[in-house]
Amino acid sequence: MNSVSTDICIIGAGPVGLFAVFEAGLLKLRCHVVDALPQVGGQLSEIYPKKPIYDIPGFPEVLAGDLVQNLMRQIEPFHPTFTLGERVEGYEKLEDGSFRVTTIDGTEILCKAIAIAGGLGSFEPRKPAIDSLADFEGGKGVYYMVRDPETFRDQRLVIAGGGDSALDWTIFLADVAKEVTLVHRGTTFRGAADSAEKVKNLHEAGKVKLVLSSNVTHVHGNGQLHGVTITANDGTAAQVEADSFIPLFGLTPKLGPIGEWGLELEDDAVKVNTVDYSTSEPGIFAIGDINTYPGKLKLILCGFHEAALMCQGAFKYINPDKKYVLKYTTVNGVPTL
Ligand code: FAD
Repeated sequence: MNSVSTDICIIGAGPVGLFAVFEAGLLKLRCHVVDALPQVGGQLSEIYPKKPIYDIPGFPEVLAGDLVQNLMRQIEPFHPTFTLGERVEGYEKLEDGSFRVTTIDGTEILCKAIAIAGGLGSFEPRKPAIDSLADFEGGKGVYYMVRDPETFRDQRLVIAGGGDSALDWTIFLADVAKEVTLVHRGTTFRGAADSAEKVKNLHEAGKVKLVLSSNVTHVHGNGQLHGVTITANDGTAAQVEADSFIPLFGLTPKLGPIGEWGLELEDDAVKVNTVDYSTSEPGIFAIGDINTYPGKLKLILCGFHEAALMCQGAFKYINPDKKYVLKYTTVNGVPTL
């Protein structure tokens, strides 16, 4: 079992969770960040990486993806550790007031405080309505996101979808897999025109099979996926051999397991005390889009402010007898842990 020990376990690698690493680092607190998605950045990476943002102080304009990269650079000196692609499921409070956080894949994080920065919740894949799809989840041939492209090396892949994810992964995996078939229910793609063009070129070069106006309607196998049935909109069906099927129909955020933790909630958000963004459970804090309080604004800059005050609260929870003295970051040069 993977086991990590840290001061603060931050759940969510969105902008607010990432900035919390910086604020914690200034207080000499180490952080481990967990995210259900395979990449950092939360909504900025998943929903709008190319959108300009105009309301980050000091940046008249910054692309969401660039802001995430800058945040990663900013927290580098504090050496945060990450578990990506694993959803946090539960926690246990230990006798000494510290916590044991566990993920869906069994990773455990032993920490002195928890900061939930889960945004809109964990992004869950939209699954196509295909019988027995669930039989092949969990490494048996059906994948809803690509965590490690090497999983698919030399495989026969069927990818389904018409958006950016389906196009981007088709392009990337064409060089990794033995065979890639992209199935799309329409004839035009929703994703970037440039990516659609690349997929068409790969198809013409014989590197990708493109099956339009069709859907994957059945999955076959015996414990492990062996193939899928592709049915055209005119009703004709064909069975195709496949080692993996990757339906990429987007992700929807859900509050998920944190909603079952017994924390005080309001409208699917975690209620906090704005003094330090503590929740109803001592030692557990909530910052960013996931929390609620009178006057709450779901904005990145508000989440940054919350992260700063939350770290003060976490410091006091972890060190009840120590007095914290505020120092400006410039006093001692570049901050490090
Ligand atoms: P998120 O960015 O949502 O990140 C939360 C992360 O937590 C996710 O990656 C999720 O996978 C993870 N997570 C949740 N639950 C779990 C779990 N159980 N286990 C593991 N991981 C978990 N704001 C602005 O200030 N300016 C703008 O211009 C702006 N434009 C926007 C445009 C669009 C289209 C959208 C959708 C939002 C926009 N916002 C903007 C809002 C801004 O994106 C959010 O306020 C911000 O992303 C909140 O950051 P966060 O870190 O709290 O959460």
